[in-house]
Amino acid sequence: PRPIPQLLAEDGPSFSFEFMPPRTEKAEAMLWNSVRRIEQVNPTFISVTYGAGGSTRDRTVRITGRIEQETTLTTMAHLTCVGSSVAELRQIVGEYASVGVTNVLALRGDPPGGPAGEWVAHPEGLDHADKLVSLVRSLGDFTVGVAAFPDKHPESNDLTADADTLVRKAEAGASFAITQMVTDVDAYLRLRDLVAARGCDLPIIPGLLPVTAAGQLQRLTELNGQPLAADVVARIDAVSHDEAAVRREGIAICTEHSERLLREGAPGIHFITMNKSTATLEVFDNLRQNSFV
Ligand code: FAD
Repeated sequence: PRPIPQLLAEDGPSFSFEFMPPRTEKAEAMLWNSVRRIEQVNPTFISVTYGAGGSTRDRTVRITGRIEQETTLTTMAHLTCVGSSVAELRQIVGEYASVGVTNVLALRGDPPGGPAGEWVAHPEGLDHADKLVSLVRSLGDFTVGVAAFPDKHPESNDLTADADTLVRKAEAGASFAITQMVTDVDAYLRLRDLVAARGCDLPIIPGLLPVTAAGQLQRLTELNGQPLAADVVARIDAVSHDEAAVRREGIAICTEHSERLLREGAPGIHFITMNKSTATLEVFDNLRQNSFV
């Protein structure tokens, strides 16, 4: 498979879809159903997350490997530093390589107590994502992506610190970044412009979630305290009594945000699927009808 930066450079905007490793057989069946439906639209790549505290290590390796081997999709596996020594991280990266996964999203991970807790590195591990980028790059022919935070990482003093972090991760060998869920397009543009102003051409792909239920955004950001765009919250709240209307509005907002981001030159859209395919595919279809795909 071609590496993700090459796909970004050669094929126009990328469309990628994020999944979580399933916990049960029923959830796994739902995941495969979604993966097969998303395969039909020929996405640029799909990604599989890595559970908090490294809790899904084996499942992430197995699922990503199976998707890589049994479908036509290009995969990217997430990996965090949490709870692992450098020796263990090397081993996990080796496992990814052995199942054919060569794209890795290198993350620090959140403290075991959640994003509000205090970060303490594993005594024989790594303290920041830039070190994991270097480690993964040193272990073979891997393409490495990193996380970006347009609404500011909770531990950063200000957005310029986040821009500096992205530059550092690019210098360590990252070749693209994916953001946390974007609800405020202007925040994405601010971070992107700060990074560009530092002479760094790291492609930053915005992450988007089509809201399908009232209160979903609040539940998702409860733990990490990420601010939500007031206009998005107001639009969902205005129809919160009507489930179908919430879904329609969520898809409309996600479509509008995708189109504005792509018009503003974002290198692609990374859809957070929550392992479901219908809503994201509706957004994708809207983009196709409006000639963004
Ligand atoms: P870092 O880049 O290390 O940054 C963390 C903080 O430290 C920031 O404030 C940064 O500015 C600062 N910093 C960075 N480098 C240095 C340095 N060298 N010296 C001093 N300060 C520094 N978590 C999971 O557990 N599993 C997942 O699968 C997962 N997927 C994610 C996908 C995306 C797209 C995003 C945006 C996040 C994801 N996360 C995931 C959450 C992520 O692990 C947390 O948000 C974590 O707190 C930050 O990770 P990071 O890689 O950005 O860390």
